[in-house]
Amino acid sequence: MNHCHECNKSFDPEYHFCPLCGNPFQNESNPAYLLLKARELKHNGDLRGAIETYEKYNGMEGKNPYSYRYLGGLYYQLGEMDKSIENYKKSIEIKSDLADTYYYIGISYYRRAQIRKAIESFETCLKFNPQFAISYYWLGITYFHIGEQQKAIESYNKLLEYKPSSFIANYHLGVNYNAQGEYKKAIQHLGKLMSCCSEDEAVLYHLGYAHFESGNMAEAVNIFRKAVELNPDDKRSEKMLKHILDVSDI
Ligand SMILES: [Zn+2]
Repeated sequence: MNHCHECNKSFDPEYHFCPLCGNPFQNESNPAYLLLKARELKHNGDLRGAIETYEKYNGMEGKNPYSYRYLGGLYYQLGEMDKSIENYKKSIEIKSDLADTYYYIGISYYRRAQIRKAIESFETCLKFNPQFAISYYWLGITYFHIGEQQKAIESYNKLLEYKPSSFIANYHLGVNYNAQGEYKKAIQHLGKLMSCCSEDEAVLYHLGYAHFESGNMAEAVNIFRKAVELNPDDKRSEKMLKHILDVSDI
């Protein structure tokens, strides 16, 4: 018999959940209980315990794509990328159209420095759910990584479609456009960040740089000066400021 800890009544062993209060019966041969237990262990920070419990669950119910995905996430948290990827792959074998799973496996590939595989995974994620905006961010990062700036820019522009005021999208578009020599566009995106993040030294540096390259020297000096004032250790902005002022003196 199954005994419910909540209402203190006993029921037929074929039930997984108490028919009165809905709690899963607390015994280790009840898969529903194992899922609940794994979630609690994870919640309490016992990642190894959670892994052990999900693996026991998978041994009983081998066809749940989510439990494999959770396992992939737990191994990721422990920094064990091989096992993380292995479990995400099993999840995909069971259900091949879950956008989230491709997103997660993409990040594990990225952490294992398999950039092409990461890109492929983020692209697949977006094929199944074009609104999975965070994948555009990761595509931007990964394409930038392999020197494909144009594709990085396309990805960040897509991210901007879904999150028009995204700091990440505007910031990285600014950096990428600077790298491509498209300074007007860089100014446009970095300039948008002045309303939220005018004290961010990285934003100031890249915006100052775009103005410098565009020949707006007064504007560039103002921005670099502000960056150095806010953070006297900001060597990049200090160097640019010196460079402009030295040249101007001549
Ligand atoms: Zn009950």
